[in-house]
Amino acid sequence: KNVGKISLEQIDSLSGKSFPLCMRQVHQSLRENHHLRHGGRMQYGLFLKGIGLSLEQALQFWRSEFIKGKVDADKFDKAYAYSVRHMFGKEGKRTDYTPYSCMKVILSNAPSQGDHHGCPFRHSDPELLKQKLQVYKVSPSGIIQILELVKGMHYQLACQKYFELTHNVEEASFSLNHPNQYFIESQKVLGG
Ligand code: SF4
Repeated sequence: KNVGKISLEQIDSLSGKSFPLCMRQVHQSLRENHHLRHGGRMQYGLFLKGIGLSLEQALQFWRSEFIKGKVDADKFDKAYAYSVRHMFGKEGKRTDYTPYSCMKVILSNAPSQGDHHGCPFRHSDPELLKQKLQVYKVSPSGIIQILELVKGMHYQLACQKYFELTHNVEEASFSLNHPNQYFIESQKVLGG
């Protein structure tokens, strides 16, 4: 497949250009806090696997970020490396886990205080979502359209609108149902 297609150095810039909001948000909080709770690690870790990170890259990615925070290398290897290998089907029941779909992110395991996973269109307070969209340079009229869709509980359409506005396409040629699909479509538009 696409394993090894991206390098770890590319992740920061890709997160701003081609990640859907849910993944951009967990990535940002990982970089800021050097930590992510289990729900975030699963959602984001499987997404990264889906865009092509190899197991070795994933271990390096999580390790280098976590050891910038309160976790030292030894603790990482003892407490977290297992769960990374697990995601790649190398431990436990050896299930090769697939990245979460939008429905799964939207409907299961809602984030609580201190969590950064979930779907921002579904789980963020609308006022916070609005601020986030402003920071991400969505136009005021675009923000109004997105918030209208959110109000009608059309979360994936709101995300698709965000895609259209941030990629300068009139109407997306796909119907969004998966964060990894968002990434692929974005790379297509951007020629990545
Ligand atoms: Fe992520 Fe899907 Fe929500 Fe978009 S609609 S932010 S891709 S979960």
